[in-house]
Amino acid sequence: MTKKVRIGNIVIGGGERIAVQSMTNTKTTDVEGTVKQLAALQAAGCDIARCSVPDSASADALAKIVKSTTMPIVADIHFDYRLAVKAADAGAAKIRINPGNIGDESKVGYLAKYLKERNIPIRIGVNGGSLDKKYEGLPLDEAMCESALEHVALLEKHSFYDIVISVKSSDVVNTVKAYRLLSQKCDYPLHVGVTEAGIYEKGLIKSAIGIGALLCDGIGDTVRVSLTDDPVKEVYAAKEILKAVGRYEGAYAEVVSCPTCARTCIDVQGIATKIEEYARTLDKSVKIAVMGCVVNGIGESKGCDIGVAGGKDKSVIFREGKIIATVNNDEILGELKRQIDKL
Ligand code: SF4
Repeated sequence: MTKKVRIGNIVIGGGERIAVQSMTNTKTTDVEGTVKQLAALQAAGCDIARCSVPDSASADALAKIVKSTTMPIVADIHFDYRLAVKAADAGAAKIRINPGNIGDESKVGYLAKYLKERNIPIRIGVNGGSLDKKYEGLPLDEAMCESALEHVALLEKHSFYDIVISVKSSDVVNTVKAYRLLSQKCDYPLHVGVTEAGIYEKGLIKSAIGIGALLCDGIGDTVRVSLTDDPVKEVYAAKEILKAVGRYEGAYAEVVSCPTCARTCIDVQGIATKIEEYARTLDKSVKIAVMGCVVNGIGESKGCDIGVAGGKDKSVIFREGKIIATVNNDEILGELKRQIDKL
């Protein structure tokens, strides 16, 4: 079991619900744009969001941003401990910084003390693409794990234990191996993800494999899907991964749909897409099937609460395997939604 770490109003680790994270891709100095994006992320189900703080103006903006959201905000800092201090003063709920990159050890000590007094945790984020030269020759997974533990030791030396760790690479297999290794060597909560995963479809697949494999192993206390796309999609993707591995807590509607074939009588893709959008607005546990034909549809969707099976001109709406309505094909969507609402 990992340690618990509090990030604002969210606790991760120690068996707590797995928190979904994302990161804004607006300029942090664009307060209005960033606040707007944070609101969209939160509405999509994001628990914790990160903003880059590359300079002092961004730290100033962060103070305004933090006041405009109820989500805990993580400040992403590279190297400069003074920016980390400024971000802490601005109200950041966590600082992402690698202590080994801060430089002079007295600066690490200063920052550790400063954050400890304010109960602000640090995430150590090791990235396989920017490892120190001294790890050359080591397999990537071992190198990432070693590097993370070295950063940890630096903080522990200053009696700082409020730590979250990530060891990400764009290489899925090494990412998974590194987290597995790390989970055996320490009990700090792990922020899991595959970094620089790529554009939407590619990033989705890499993240689902990497994060999914780790979650199946019981590894991971908070997740971030990295996509070269709208960060809101990262949140949806993270939630889908959690659902797929049975780690999503709370009620949700699940839509299953058949792959379509020569027997297909209705626009399965169009209907399933619309029902999926509708399902996202529901907060009840219901499994909905959209099946292309009556021949196999009802039988194949056993285990669903409700569904449609397509016919030539008319289709059937079924509930727990029994037909409850027959509708014209252009009325499927409306009737299905009505029946779902009745459940
Ligand atoms: S449910 Fe019917 S239409 Fe869909 S894949 Fe199966 S046989 Fe084909």
